Amino acid sequence: MSFIQLKDVVKRYNNNISVDHLNLTIQEGEVFGLLGPNGAGKSTTIKMLSGLLKIDQGHVLVDGLSVASQPLEVKRRIGLVPQDLAIYEGLTAKENVTFFARLYGLRGKLLKSRVEEALDFVGLADRSGDKASSFSGGMKRRLNIACAIMHHPKLIIMDEPTVGIDPQSRNHILESVRTLNRMGSTIIYTSHYMEEVSAISTRVGIMDHGHLIACGTQEELRCKVAQDNKIIIQAANIVDEAIQELNNHPRIKKVTLQDQMIELLQLASSQAYLQDILFILSKHQVKIVSLTQVEPDLEALFLSLTGRTLRD
Ligand code: ADP
Repeated sequence: MSFIQLKDVVKRYNNNISVDHLNLTIQEGEVFGLLGPNGAGKSTTIKMLSGLLKIDQGHVLVDGLSVASQPLEVKRRIGLVPQDLAIYEGLTAKENVTFFARLYGLRGKLLKSRVEEALDFVGLADRSGDKASSFSGGMKRRLNIACAIMHHPKLIIMDEPTVGIDPQSRNHILESVRTLNRMGSTIIYTSHYMEEVSAISTRVGIMDHGHLIACGTQEELRCKVAQDNKIIIQAANIVDEAIQELNNHPRIKKVTLQDQMIELLQLASSQAYLQDILFILSKHQVKIVSLTQVEPDLEALFLSLTGRTLRD
């Protein structure tokens, strides 16, 4: 059975539908990246998944438990890093994590060791006695993470954890996602940054207007836009016959020539076609200076599915 199951999940605000009959399964051990532009429905989905928001329709299971009928059991298994910081500015880093550890029922020696472990994990051990109000945005985000992981949750959900922070904290957070996953937690990570989701996810779901418009491994998603595979060749001695022959190749969709640059759009990605291209060019004594294969990315997929960029 899947670790997480969302079946036909619907959420409306007033008369507007924010999550529209969403079906999604996530297996234990995954780093699942939920990608989509602002307003796509990612946070609403996360809130329903973690029991913070009532579902209008459908059902959600986490580790075989119903979020609707066993909310406390589900919450115990989840570490939620919310988009809006959930820390107390007036408390020290240590007091913040201790507060949340108590809420999760930790006491005594175990509480003390878990608080230290969590602060150490996010790189704030040496600032544990300082008030959160003295921290940079990135440090506050890291403290937010410490507060969510000290109880060793099976599922860690991070909602846009890198918005508006410095590159160093961002890298620290991305690295900690990998480490937490290696240590055994399943991760759900929402972002509207394609590069981040691409860097850490084992599988990606793309949301838009409350719908899951694509879902799969990055390789599977890339295949969906295979027709957009591009090869750029810088060359000398380009002759018309070579361009003509490339144009006639059954797998090449379009050839454009500008100055000393040949741009090819391929129907599908394959090394075999690359061999064909090299063969044709060398047959006509075209001298290749450089060759670049441009693989379609998640941004290209979003564009091909919606006609918009992620940042529109
Ligand atoms: P994302 O996390 O992908 O940016 P959200 O889940 O926050 O998207 O929002 C999805 C849609 O639901 C948006 O159109 C948003 O305006 C709407 N929405 C979210 N929260 C509320 C709310 N509390 N009241 C009314 N509309 C909301």
